[in-house]
Amino acid sequence: MDILNPANGALIATLPDTTAEQAQQKYVTARAAQHIWAQKPIGERLVAIDKFYALLEEHQTKLAEVLTSEVGKPLGQAKGEITGARKRIKFFLDQSERYLSDEVVYEEEGLKEVISFEPLGVIGNISAWNYPYLVGVNVIIPALIAGNAVLYKPSEHATLTGLKIRDLLYEAGVPQEVFQVVVGGKEAGEALLNLPLDGYYFTGSYRTGQYIYERVAPKMVPCQLELGGKDPLYVANDIKDIANVAANVADGAFYNNGQSCCAVERVYVHESIYEQFVEEFVKEAKGFKMGQPTEEGVYIGPLTRQDQIKVLEGQVADAVQKGANLLLGGKKIDNGGYYFEPTVLSHVNHTMKVMTEESFGPIIGIQKVRNDEEAISLMQDTEYGLTAAVYSDSQERGESILKQLNTGTAYWNCCDRVSANLPWSGRKHSGIGATLSHIGIRAFTKPKAYHLRG
Ligand code: NAD
Repeated sequence: MDILNPANGALIATLPDTTAEQAQQKYVTARAAQHIWAQKPIGERLVAIDKFYALLEEHQTKLAEVLTSEVGKPLGQAKGEITGARKRIKFFLDQSERYLSDEVVYEEEGLKEVISFEPLGVIGNISAWNYPYLVGVNVIIPALIAGNAVLYKPSEHATLTGLKIRDLLYEAGVPQEVFQVVVGGKEAGEALLNLPLDGYYFTGSYRTGQYIYERVAPKMVPCQLELGGKDPLYVANDIKDIANVAANVADGAFYNNGQSCCAVERVYVHESIYEQFVEEFVKEAKGFKMGQPTEEGVYIGPLTRQDQIKVLEGQVADAVQKGANLLLGGKKIDNGGYYFEPTVLSHVNHTMKVMTEESFGPIIGIQKVRNDEEAISLMQDTEYGLTAAVYSDSQERGESILKQLNTGTAYWNCCDRVSANLPWSGRKHSGIGATLSHIGIRAFTKPKAYHLRG
């Protein structure tokens, strides 16, 4: 497998794919080692994860450089991702023991009822490339703490980072058999699907997620999917500081080049402030520094996948042909890397792909709406259900709109954020199951009900 630098197309590394036979061998050793790992007191597993937490900080700069070299993320954002991942690990370090301990739920003379949380066994994690530390940590860390063994397949676009995570986990004291990496693309993922694993945790597109869900179904084991989105954001007419809100929304749309599952993908603005909002938004987007991801202060680097350029070009052409105004950007940059200009389209509607299909790039459509009802109806007009945001000076108005939307996450006066304290979950085509929070700690366990008489 060739690993290319998205900033210039240069070959950085060539790695052998894991074969189906090797994946099977990894499974056999993981299966044998998992029981020993699970039998250790949780405190011992936490010591290893705590060391990993420290190592991420110690090696942050080098790790960020590797991440930037293979996914093209600006260096500052790569460092920020590792800092964010450490915050999530801290949450798991602090909270896991509480939520994995036996729970006495009923007690009377001679009878005790207890729930215990047992590890699933050997689980598979098939992951995405856009935030390999964050989406990796969501699964790997709570799974290991709960006593599982993990077969981890990083995305083919973030494999060097996946191998770094492996090396640091080993250095931290996680046994080599308990955490193993499967290298490669689709075929390596298939090799995991062919194994009799005890749970599958997937982050990626709806298309692949749906396929995996079908493949795992006959195994009758947990299968969690964190998939894509077409996340809407509504700006109501009672906001006071239009420029500030426009700057916030632009960051939500363009951070990580729009390649975030919870990136703002479509914006609806009340007609009374539409023109002013659009003007401020374009002003903000024009100010984003684009360039080499290793250069200080660069906000927009290359896209990770070259193929996505065609998708973005297609969305722009489709929107313009149907009457949208192209206010900024709209084309790729021919500099040897996978660059696409930050792109803003106004006067868009739901006949256009840019408002209905996941863009996963630096492109946004801003649609005018007459009132809250129209905004709600348009926000609901999607197959996805990851996040939705409302900007309004009234919390009551914001919350009342958010209650009517079928999404796993709701933002009032903020967007594009994830917290370890809260469950991260999608609805409809955005996925099934949850990571993070206490729900995401227990997601890697199976409950056993004890009825204890005596
Ligand atoms: P993808 O579906 O192309 O690939 C995801 C993973 O699946 C990769 O590791 C890939 O090698 C593997 N894979 C592909 N085909 C497979 C098959 N047939 N069998 C087994 N494995 C297979 O997605 P991607 O491009 O890596 O990620 C982008 C998508 O992920 C976007 O849609 C984004 O919204 C979504 N995402 C969601 C979240 C979330 O938390 N909801 C987080 C990050 C990314």
